[in-house]
Amino acid sequence: MRPAFLNPLFASAQTLSGIGPRLILLLKKCLALPPGVSEPRVIDVLWHMPTGVIDRRSQPQLAAAVPGTIVTLELRVLKHKPSPRGNTKAPYKVTCEDDTGRIDLVFFHAEHKFIERQLPEGEIRFVSGRIERYGEKLQMTHPDYIVSPEARDDMPLLEPVYPLTAGLSGKIALKAARQAVGRVPELPEWQEPTWLEQRYWPKFNEAVARVHRPEDAHDVSMGALPWQRLAYDELLAGQLAFALVRRNLKTERGRRLTGDGKIRAKIADALPFSLTGSQKTALTEIADDLAAPHRMLRLLQGDVGSGKTVVALMTMAVAVEGGAQAALMAPTEVLARQHIETIAPLADAAGLRIALLTGREKGKARDAVISRLATGEIDILIGTHALFQSDVQFKDLAVAVIDEQHRFGVHQRMALQSKGSNGDTNVLVMTATPIPRTLLMTHYGDLDVSKLTEKPAGRKPVVTKAVPLELLERLIDRVRVQLTEGAQVYWVCPLIETSEVTDLAAAEERFAYLRQIFGDTVGLLHGGLSGKEKDETMAAFAAGHLKILVATTVIEVGVNVPNANIMVIEHAERFGLAQLHQLRGRVGRGTRESFCMLLYKAPLGETAEARLKMMEETEDGFRIAEKDLELRGGGEILGARQSGAPGFRIAEVPGRDALLEAARDDAELILQKDPNLVSERGQALRTLLYLFECDEAVRLFRAA
Ligand code: ADP
Ligand code: MG
Repeated sequence: MRPAFLNPLFASAQTLSGIGPRLILLLKKCLALPPGVSEPRVIDVLWHMPTGVIDRRSQPQLAAAVPGTIVTLELRVLKHKPSPRGNTKAPYKVTCEDDTGRIDLVFFHAEHKFIERQLPEGEIRFVSGRIERYGEKLQMTHPDYIVSPEARDDMPLLEPVYPLTAGLSGKIALKAARQAVGRVPELPEWQEPTWLEQRYWPKFNEAVARVHRPEDAHDVSMGALPWQRLAYDELLAGQLAFALVRRNLKTERGRRLTGDGKIRAKIADALPFSLTGSQKTALTEIADDLAAPHRMLRLLQGDVGSGKTVVALMTMAVAVEGGAQAALMAPTEVLARQHIETIAPLADAAGLRIALLTGREKGKARDAVISRLATGEIDILIGTHALFQSDVQFKDLAVAVIDEQHRFGVHQRMALQSKGSNGDTNVLVMTATPIPRTLLMTHYGDLDVSKLTEKPAGRKPVVTKAVPLELLERLIDRVRVQLTEGAQVYWVCPLIETSEVTDLAAAEERFAYLRQIFGDTVGLLHGGLSGKEKDETMAAFAAGHLKILVATTVIEVGVNVPNANIMVIEHAERFGLAQLHQLRGRVGRGTRESFCMLLYKAPLGETAEARLKMMEETEDGFRIAEKDLELRGGGEILGARQSGAPGFRIAEVPGRDALLEAARDDAELILQKDPNLVSERGQALRTLLYLFECDEAVRLFRAA
């Protein structure tokens, strides 16, 4: 449970004075609340960071004030000159003075009573705002602050500026933030003293205070020391939580899986190629995980065509060598079928009993699979979401492989894991989406990672070219030449509108057009076809009966037809980089020279142009992923953002990546030295975890 001394921070923001039922709704609009939190709390106000600062420190006498600047003046109120009754256009002026000159404070549409109360004649007031010259006179229109000498401290000389929403004033936000700072109790230090000293970082309390009550204009910048310290606190909390989850998964009910390698050897013999270095490395890492007395939770990252399927099969073979079962789950039926086709000959050679289960297997066929699965007569089950159905019971599921992870959520990952009898199923998640390292750490920090960095031998580069739609005829001429040389072509038509119907219409139109030219060697694949029709079309293309396959974006990421060497993508400007890269990965798998033609409709927007240029420049999935991130401005992982992925509240600072690396190392070290966080620093770190709402992670201690 969260320690009681933090409770004031987690109380509703309505407990702050000045924030009532109306303002809380406005706060809700402009504060970034974590998932599941519906009403802003004090802590959310605390993490609502200023985006700038208004400097009111210049306190000149009138004679020395520079027009156009923001100043704070000490003035004596001389005379009120209200706007004449009935003339709402004329301003209300109040003349004030100091020892060196005079100034008019100017108010439009002002409530007279209010001004009279604020500026009683003969009294001293501190007034802050932008000073202007108006003819011969100095004036200040609608001062930001007017305070009496007693209330001087209420006026910030360095005023943080907050992101606001209509109806919520900066003054209210500031007042709320200052109160929130006041609610922060004295907290024990969780960072290493030497680390703080080296970086000149302030203590936590001081850091939050300086952000909301800056002493220096520079304090309100993301590179400033207080801000950096808070960012590091947030990152460390996240990395510590991940480290705890990882450790917990591993210590939890482990199971050693060591095979004798016989089945794997048979598979290797049946392969027409030898494994790449990175496939071998990945398999060693996986075998080590499986042999260890803890559960595997590993992410296998490999660009399209890098050969993940073989790694999956070998991984599953370890389970079978150990006398258990394995499952491979694909996101779609087409992919599941493709997997089984690839795997079947190898499985045959190695004596593995495999079966398919998708939404299409029904009735007797389905019953048969389910009963053989329960008795252990099936070694490897390949399928789709259908594997989740509750009547699908394995005899002993030891390894689950999930392909193309970005279409599955964490919950599904968990659900498949629990299909194992003891909840101890080893999980390998495979993704073709290159995820930049920093995102991996922040979003998939609970998974270990293996990478396939080498392309299988014999891969040819794919020549990529962006071509305006006007040159379609010329492209078709080239395709004609290529076809006579035995080429095969994917022709992708994108979503035109958000409706399936128009999407399909575009593909059908192109299909009809190409048919006129190339006859019945042109096929059409789209989402509206039945599963059987899709299979037949795919099979005809794979067998080479069809030369051109026109498709809506249903050509699945994992589809493998090595002879296909041309990818035409229409309206390429409408696709994201990741998608373009995935589609291009369909070609360049065989021996033929390969092409990717990006047909676009001119004129191109800036981002679209940058994307197409990037595609022409490189095939490196990681570079493309980084660029994609840049073009999208961060945040999303290649359209694959996981629900519940943590967003940062403060940590989006310059130098974040370096801080993140440090936090990760720090977290590992902390748990090595003090696995249960019982030392003095350990206790303080628990407070840090609660402060950043990683309660789940702390709870794991009780389970351990
Ligand atoms: P992906 O990583 O996209 O799932 P696949 O597993 O479908 O890639 O592999 C793509 C193609 O590469 C397949 O035809 C596969 O047989 C072939 N392949 C896999 N590993 C190798 C290798 N080591 N050498 C040569 N070809 C390979
Ligand atoms: Mg694949």
